[in-house]
Amino acid sequence: MKKTTLIIGAGGVSRVVVHKCVMNADVFGKIVLASRTVSKCDEIRAELPDADIETAALDADSTDAVIALIETIKADIVINVALPYQDLTIMDACIATKTPYLDTANYEHPDEAKFEYKLQWERNEAFKQEGIMGLLGSGFDPGATNVFCAYAQKHYFDEIHTIDILDCNAGDHGYPFATNFNPEINLREVSAKGRYWENGEWIETEPMEIMQVWDYPEVGPKDSYLLYHEEMESLVKHIKGLKRIRFFMTFGQSYLKHMEVLQNVGMLGIEPVQHKGMEIVPIEFLKTLLPDPASLGPRTKGKTNIGIVAEGIKDGVKKKIYIYQVKDHEECYAETNSQGVSYTTGVPAMIGAKLMLKGIWSGEGVFNMEQLDPDPFMQEMMEQGLPWKIKEL
Ligand code: NDP
Repeated sequence: MKKTTLIIGAGGVSRVVVHKCVMNADVFGKIVLASRTVSKCDEIRAELPDADIETAALDADSTDAVIALIETIKADIVINVALPYQDLTIMDACIATKTPYLDTANYEHPDEAKFEYKLQWERNEAFKQEGIMGLLGSGFDPGATNVFCAYAQKHYFDEIHTIDILDCNAGDHGYPFATNFNPEINLREVSAKGRYWENGEWIETEPMEIMQVWDYPEVGPKDSYLLYHEEMESLVKHIKGLKRIRFFMTFGQSYLKHMEVLQNVGMLGIEPVQHKGMEIVPIEFLKTLLPDPASLGPRTKGKTNIGIVAEGIKDGVKKKIYIYQVKDHEECYAETNSQGVSYTTGVPAMIGAKLMLKGIWSGEGVFNMEQLDPDPFMQEMMEQGLPWKIKEL
């Protein structure tokens, strides 16, 4: 029987997910695209006039509203590409309706710049009880990077001792300052303190305190700064013998200067301030001023390169490998009307959902990507526009 796929959110990532689900319509069937602003859903639908897509207005902060929509359309899966703030309400609606769930980013509370899996993992029992699968973090990082780690563990190592996740976006959109995905989420992430894990402990650093230059294939050497990133929280639990894991992201000097100034003048604040008798949250106001990430697509040139370097032991011998994926922004735009960051997030979301709908990835409870067999996901990446490479270092 033809499936029904509910996609929640109609931003940059969603646009890619919708395009890619339509390219795999034999699996996804009918698509219902629902978001807070229905006109954004209609815009995406208009790009795919021959596809079986319906749109709907939905406030996903309301579990009841999500339940009602899932029940009305009889969704077979929910792909959550709204914001991390909606993760819990949507998960709860999936539990109430026994519907499989997938997202690309872990839960964050709007009033606290802190993200962690705790509250999502706590729903593991409920997902088990209802006999459904929840797949967490099926984007690129988290997402493909977790799968790269699982692939390295499965095929290349007896034990992995260190992992560095390396995220480079060498795209140029021509604006003095803009973010490649939701500005609020992005700026909260990069202005926070850095953190990495070593010998069983989390070590905190000042924001941008640790930098290394990494020579990214097809891009070149780039300053890469240590950040905390959510996939480390699950990888330290699931990768055998791990002694250290770090995450690095590239930033240009101009981006960092803008960030520093915005931080110093208080524009990254998440607490409401009074302005002419009105309450405004500085970072939300900044979001209003900055270019919409979805509008960067036609302007962005250059490549992304995201991967992992893993070091460990195989048959008693030390070994180091680099698994990475390079994507060209203009190629992404030609295929899906979106820039590379949305593309590299949206394609893994589609792949995760495809493997779930086909029953290739299955289980009851809440899963992080590295807990599942990496091979079918890696194979799909090759076929769906995200070919990867492995180098022995
Ligand atoms: P956008 O801001 O472009 O899109 C978010 C969409 O969610 C908008 O359409 C927005 O609606 C909608 N939305 C917000 N609140 C609600 C609500 N209460 N109910 C219904 N819809 C709502 O974000 P992106 O597309 O850039 O990012 C989407 C997700 O992907 C985020 O969670 C982000 O963290 C994640 N991500 C993950 C990455 C990874 O590699 N794992 C990388 C990049 C992003 P409206 O238009 O009305 O505001």
